[in-house]
Amino acid sequence: MAKNKDSKETKKDIPSQSIKWDLSPAPESKGHIKLQDKYDLFINGKWVKPSSGKYFDTTNPATEEKLAEIAYANDADVDKAVKAAREAYTNVWSRMSGAERGKYLFRIARLIQERAREFAVIETLDGGKSIRESRDVDVPLAANHFFYYAGWADKLQYAFPNRKMESLGVAGQIIPWNFPLLMAAWKIAPALACGNTVVLKPAETTSLTCLKLAEIFEEAGLPPGVVNIITGHGDTGAALVNHPDINKIAFTGSTNIGKIIQRAVSGTNKKLTLELGGKSANIIFEDAAIDQAVEGIVNGIFFNQGHVCCAGSRLFVQEGVADEVIQKLKDRMDHLYVGDPMDKNTDIGAINSKEQFDTIKRYVKIGKNEGNEIYESKCEIPSKGYFCRPTLILDVAQSSTLVQEEIFGPVLTVQTFRTVDEVIQKANNTQYGLAAGVWTDKGSKIFNLTTKLRAGVVWANTYNKFDPTSPFGGYKESGFGREGGVHGLESYLK
Ligand code: ADP
Repeated sequence: MAKNKDSKETKKDIPSQSIKWDLSPAPESKGHIKLQDKYDLFINGKWVKPSSGKYFDTTNPATEEKLAEIAYANDADVDKAVKAAREAYTNVWSRMSGAERGKYLFRIARLIQERAREFAVIETLDGGKSIRESRDVDVPLAANHFFYYAGWADKLQYAFPNRKMESLGVAGQIIPWNFPLLMAAWKIAPALACGNTVVLKPAETTSLTCLKLAEIFEEAGLPPGVVNIITGHGDTGAALVNHPDINKIAFTGSTNIGKIIQRAVSGTNKKLTLELGGKSANIIFEDAAIDQAVEGIVNGIFFNQGHVCCAGSRLFVQEGVADEVIQKLKDRMDHLYVGDPMDKNTDIGAINSKEQFDTIKRYVKIGKNEGNEIYESKCEIPSKGYFCRPTLILDVAQSSTLVQEEIFGPVLTVQTFRTVDEVIQKANNTQYGLAAGVWTDKGSKIFNLTTKLRAGVVWANTYNKFDPTSPFGGYKESGFGREGGVHGLESYLK
């Protein structure tokens, strides 16, 4: 145990957590991981070379080392995948009973559990997030989504009583890099439970766990063509969106690309759900349990490198406790472990890509140029790889660029408020509406805010809690449609 030499003296009435443990390295082992040098496309139950012959590298953002080469799908490959999905839909999957479909989903869920450690390690190697997060959040939740929707597959008539529900057909699904396996599960599980077939495109920086998921589909004996995985960049996604034989597009990603997709789909018969950006408010009232709230703030924005669309990236603190909360927050930030994502003690791993790393740096610079007070955690960071110190932007105005725009990194803006009406107005004054957090001792205050905050999810005295039974989705430019829960079935049925 060592005293952190950087820890600073705090106000007398606010006790400082001045101890930071010097922890020995505790890296998760990689010995059991088998990665190929090259990954092809998974179409019609087979591994198929891309028609262009092109591949791109996927790298480990913590070390900048190449992990594997990934096939780059073009229009012809997308067409092949959609045809396979259509054939599987018409001849096999839509004809199968719900109970039979459910059995495949249960099998997939169990296989994810069996290979959980392997998936967690690959997710961390490819995406940079801490092994703690991929092991404790991403992989178990992905398995749970398959379990949950497996249970619905033969009970759709109970989910929607007195309505005759039918599957849509072929779903094109495009996912981002922040939760690659989990987003794939969110999208594939309800689609299959409802009787649809799928063509899924993972993000270009994090294709590996989706390709590993394809191995599970093979192992589970899923009929060929029911799920097809095509890898590539934005143009591959665009080819999928524009393919005429797609019945539904489900997209999670940036608001800009969401708008492009919405324009592309308008005027067609394609059904659309969009889960886009966020700038979620985390609101701390004077009567809140302050230590828990500080932990909730850290969990909401820092533990996941800020790589969550619903990250609590705007902090609102009631004036009476502002000094205390900010001091405790700074203190906690100084005690976070930023570094090797494979180390089990690491709180904050690597930023997913050089591009995202540069974006975060650019925003912090904008904050400085706009005259805001910046507080960077004193924690050490590795010299190699893409790592960011947790950062506070203090005394920001509501109009500040950093309050208005999504940064997608461990950067938290801090504003104060006096009254409930004021904080509701400030929290809602954004183009987004994905999530919010409320910290208070009073249940009545919570219920008042949950009805007035324009956000798809409002957490009370907690943050970033997920469960397959709860619907998730946004208001305004955070998108439309819900994923998860019974609501998530509706998006895949007519
Ligand atoms: P993020 O900022 O989270 O990376 P993006 O919206 O850029 O989000 O990317 C999310 C997903 O959308 C990725 O799989 C990406 O390849 C894909 N994508 C990017 N551009 C397009 C496009 N024009 N049409 C369809 N998909 C796209």
